Amino acid sequence: MSFNPITATEVDQVSDNHRTVKEKQAPEFDHSAGRRLISDVPQAVMAVEGLRVYYGAFLAVRDVDLAFGRNEITALIGPSGCGKSTVIRCLNRMNDLVVGARVEGVVKYHSQNIYAHSVDPIEVRRRIGMVFQKPNPFPKSIYDNIAYGPRVTGMKPDSMDDLVEQALHGAALWDEVKDKLKQNAYGLSGGQQQRLCIARTLATEPDVILMDEPCSALDPIATSRIEDLMMQLRERFTIIIVTHNMQQAARVSDRTAFFTAQADDTTGNRTGLLVEFDRTEKIFTNPSEKRTEDYTSGKFG
Ligand code: ADP
Repeated sequence: MSFNPITATEVDQVSDNHRTVKEKQAPEFDHSAGRRLISDVPQAVMAVEGLRVYYGAFLAVRDVDLAFGRNEITALIGPSGCGKSTVIRCLNRMNDLVVGARVEGVVKYHSQNIYAHSVDPIEVRRRIGMVFQKPNPFPKSIYDNIAYGPRVTGMKPDSMDDLVEQALHGAALWDEVKDKLKQNAYGLSGGQQQRLCIARTLATEPDVILMDEPCSALDPIATSRIEDLMMQLRERFTIIIVTHNMQQAARVSDRTAFFTAQADDTTGNRTGLLVEFDRTEKIFTNPSEKRTEDYTSGKFG
C-alpha cells in the first residue's frame, strides 16, 4: 500500500504537516465583503493536467487542467453530459471500476501522479474520499458503517469508539444518533443517511473529499444542513463538488469550474471540455467567457 516515489509514511507526514499548516492557513472570512479571502492562484492539494477520458472509443471529456486549493470548496458545474462526474471520478480512480473507461493525462495529489503504476488505488480512495449522489449506507448498524473503512484499510485507532464518535461529530450527526449507534443505518432519514456517508468518509482520515451531487436526492432542509456542513468541513479538508444547482455552487464554493460539451464536426459526438475556471464570485458576476455567462444566466443549458 504505497504511493511511490513518496512512500505511504512520507505521505502521512505530508498530510500531517498539511493538517498543521492548514489549521493556521485556512482562508479567513472577510465580513465586510461577505466572502472568504482566497489566494489568486489555488494552493493546490490536487491538480489535473491534460486530462482526457474515453469510454471505449468515445472521448467523453478532453484537455482539462485544474488545480484544487487547500481548504477550499471547488464546484464543477455545467450542463448534463459535459463530463463533470467523469472528471470527479478520475480524482480518486473511481473510473478504474468502470468497464471501458480510460484516463489519459496526469492527476496529481501532493505532486504525485495517482495513476502511476506503483500507486495503490485503495490507498488513493482512503486519502481522497467520495460521497455519492444517493446516500448509500451499508445494511449495517450506524456504528459499523463508520468503523467499516478503518477496519478494512487496517487502521489501528487507539479507540474505535472514539474514532466513530469523532467522525459522527465531524459530520454533525452525533447528537442525533448517539443513543442508537447499534441500530440499522437504514432507519435514518435521507439527509441523516447522507451525513452518515460523510462521517464514513471522515473515518478514514482523508485529505480531500469528493462529492458528486450530494444533495440531489434531498429536500431543501436536508440540503441546507449539508451545505452548512460542507462550509465547516472546508476548514479541515479540501472539497470538490459536482452540482447541477448553480445557487448551491454560488453559496458554498470558493472557486468554480464551468464545463460544456461540444460536438465534433465529423463524428457529431459531444465531448466535454473546461470553459472557464475562476473564483466563484467572478464566474457568477463577471465571467471571461460568453458561454459561461449564457449558462449562469440561464440562457443556455
Ligand atoms: P455529467 O456528470 O456532466 O452529466 P458524465 O460525466 O456523466 O456527465 O458523462 C459525460 C459523457 O460520458 C456523457 O456523454 C455520458 O453519456 C458518457 N458516459 C458517462 N459514463 C459512461 C459510461 N459508464 N459508459 C459510457 N459512457 C459514459
